[in-house]
Amino acid sequence: MNNFTFQNKTDIRFGRDLIEGQLRDAITQFGNKVLFVYGGGSIKRSGLYEQVMRLLAGMDVVELAGVEPNPKIESVRAGQKLAKEHDVDVVLAVGGGSVIDASKVIASAKFYEGDPWELVENSALRNDIDQLPLVDILTLSATGTEMNRGSVISNMAENKKLGTYGPNTPAVSFLDPANTLTVSKWQTAAGSIDIFSHLTEQYFDRAYTPVTDGMIEGLMRTVISNAPVALAHPDDYNARGALMLASTMALNGLVGSGNENGWTVHPIEHELSAYYDITHGVGLGILTPRWMKQVLDETSQAKFAKFARNVWDIQATDDLEAAEQAIQATYNWVKSLDVPTVLQGVEIMDNQKFQVMAESAVEVGSLNTRGYKKLAPADVVAMFEASMTTDGFE
Ligand code: NAP
Ligand code: FE
Repeated sequence: MNNFTFQNKTDIRFGRDLIEGQLRDAITQFGNKVLFVYGGGSIKRSGLYEQVMRLLAGMDVVELAGVEPNPKIESVRAGQKLAKEHDVDVVLAVGGGSVIDASKVIASAKFYEGDPWELVENSALRNDIDQLPLVDILTLSATGTEMNRGSVISNMAENKKLGTYGPNTPAVSFLDPANTLTVSKWQTAAGSIDIFSHLTEQYFDRAYTPVTDGMIEGLMRTVISNAPVALAHPDDYNARGALMLASTMALNGLVGSGNENGWTVHPIEHELSAYYDITHGVGLGILTPRWMKQVLDETSQAKFAKFARNVWDIQATDDLEAAEQAIQATYNWVKSLDVPTVLQGVEIMDNQKFQVMAESAVEVGSLNTRGYKKLAPADVVAMFEASMTTDGFE
């Protein structure tokens, strides 16, 4: 159990249609000039765009549309330009993690004279400059960005997808499960796997605490049981709500309290997205069972057995047997969500980039010094190779 400080100031407004009576005040507390950031059009199809524009009527609204999944630095540059030109007071992000992540960096970039990629490569720069407040309306349960300081931004010209951290979490986050009823099966599965991965990254930690372990196990069970319900019944408000609250709780800092926080699978997945622009959660779903097999050994099997018994309800009394069954159960769950379980399923057909991606993941994620088990580039290459076949899984 490591020393830690925990403070999270995000004002969460959870539930049906709270924006109707609360969005305007949530924004005007910071000013009247708004940069309204959104993605490729899902909010226009769902009617949320129109609702927001009605609620902001009479205010000075500048729009930045078209933020893509795996948000690109070009969107941040465009947002920086608009924020400066219009001297906006506040950023309103309406969308999934990509829209909110890009908006957070735009909130810093308004006060930065250089290229915002420098802020991504060196988060510390963001502590020395002012920030715009961010209000968001989350439309996809996955990342936890709605209550954390992180963003992940891609620079495809450099094949880089990097995490960056600002000084603040969002000021206000509106979490209405009804806004996620239109999320596709693919994104529902990917989002659920992303939540699950945030939990495994923090559960398999060398400095875990029993308190946070119990919280994580509960959140894992929630995601495991509610993802299939949301897939089968997209309109199920309670299943969508369970995923939304789990998304937020899984990555707002709370369940990582006292941890070393050496994440492994995320930095490895970021390489796949940086080179092949694949859906983050789908990449995590392919890699996670392989990572588990890679790090299961005599010293980790007791923790895997705990995961087996408390999360998957596996009865085996032998630790190694329980651990192996839990890894198979994790693989089965991903498969049951109807997303690919091998890299070929996301159009990664050969091993050409494995070495370069593995070296970059180890460097960016400090995988050879931190993390549950230290990994060298050769270990990561082995994980990629294992991700091209179903060998070892039933
Ligand atoms: P996303 O990339 O924001 O969105 C994926 C797709 O879902 C988009 O095409 C989007 O369409 C669509 N979509 C969103 N809401 C919808 C709705 N209500 N109905 C229908 N379609 C909807 O997905 P995400 O999983 O939330 O975010 C992924 C990104 O977050 C990745 O870059 C990942 O690396 C990053 N991430 C960040 C953190 C963090 O802590 N900051 C943690 C993990 C991952 P439109 O564009 O048309 O809206
Ligand atoms: Fe993630």
